[in-house]
Amino acid sequence: MTSVFSNPDFEIALLGGGQLGKMVLAEARRLDIGVRVLDPSSDAPCRLGAQQFTLGSFQDYDTVLAFAQGADAVAIEIESVNADALEALEAQGIPCFPQSHVLRVIQNKVAQKQFYADHQLPTSEFQRFASKTDLLAAIEAGTCAYPFVWKLGEGGYDGFGVSVVRSAEDAAALAEGECIAETLVDIACEIGVVVARALDGSSQAFPAVEMEFHPTANQVEFVVCPSSLPAAVVREAEALALAVSEAFQAQGLLAVELFYTTQGTWLVNEVAPRPHNSGHLTIEACPTSQFEQLLRCMCRLPLGDSQLKQPAAMANIVGADGYSGPVFYEGLDQAMQTPGTAFHIYGKSQTRPFRKMGHLTAVGQSVDEARARAAAARDALTVRT
Ligand code: ADP
Repeated sequence: MTSVFSNPDFEIALLGGGQLGKMVLAEARRLDIGVRVLDPSSDAPCRLGAQQFTLGSFQDYDTVLAFAQGADAVAIEIESVNADALEALEAQGIPCFPQSHVLRVIQNKVAQKQFYADHQLPTSEFQRFASKTDLLAAIEAGTCAYPFVWKLGEGGYDGFGVSVVRSAEDAAALAEGECIAETLVDIACEIGVVVARALDGSSQAFPAVEMEFHPTANQVEFVVCPSSLPAAVVREAEALALAVSEAFQAQGLLAVELFYTTQGTWLVNEVAPRPHNSGHLTIEACPTSQFEQLLRCMCRLPLGDSQLKQPAAMANIVGADGYSGPVFYEGLDQAMQTPGTAFHIYGKSQTRPFRKMGHLTAVGQSVDEARARAAAARDALTVRT
């Protein structure tokens, strides 16, 4: 008899070797499950701890296909992987988390938005444009009105590819490409729900978290759980996230980002079919973390208990503004004495302004206590050169 544990013949192929992969590896080591990793950087956080670390591009069809040969399952930790290669691996009978059809929809913000509309999932109103020229023509014709939120179909990343457009000047500065113009939503709070879906179709939502954004960096600053919303309203969010996962039939993890509007309604903003920053606190705050839950899906093990054990708050540890180069963590002595706080250092040798270098999670008797601890530990640290 063999099991997936301590089994030299069972191996997961992971596309991408960043911090999300590193946290998958930590759980895989704990359970003694083999994982091989593909990443183009020799300095990738996953360079240590993998069964095998292969240098190469996860965007290249042949590289991905060769890398994943013989694996028992394939996972991604970044969305820009080659979807055609995933499709070819599926044709060989290797289950992919997520499936190629999910990834294709998610890789394009226009297709993703259209998916919600087609599946009657609540999302902000939007118009599609094949090009910037078409968008500018619609503004000129008065069929697209300011203000709106512009989102580039493909090629966006943190802080680029999304902007609020209030004037002709803003519109002129937009990048070229297929895009959408969304209604500017009056957001009361932003909520994240990570859903896990097993190969047998069983699914489970992690507790909803509330995300607080940095005022200028377009980056999550704190994630707290439970959120400040009433329990009945939170249950609506979790039910909606499960419905989104069901609509996609997304194997593995689907992190669903939601807006709770000032009118008291829910809108789906976007999803990520992989472990997500909003689920990091599940490592300390839940019996089963999002990373273990992904492994359980891939290993055909039952989904684990994802209930909240205690209030928690996560803060990203990012590179200080004004410093680029070899990293130095200043203030660790003070930061690491903060009660209830666990540190995760991703292992990136170079820092840049606002680069995610690690995170910390604090637990407490209340969310306020957890958040205060996370803020204190974070503020005591400076990531510099
Ligand atoms: P990214 O892929 O860059 O994270 P998002 O679609 O998540 O892009 O948008 C980034 C942020 O912009 C959101 O977290 C939210 O604060 C804001 N935002 C996005 N869409 C809207 C909208 N329609 N109305 C108001 N704010 C929005």
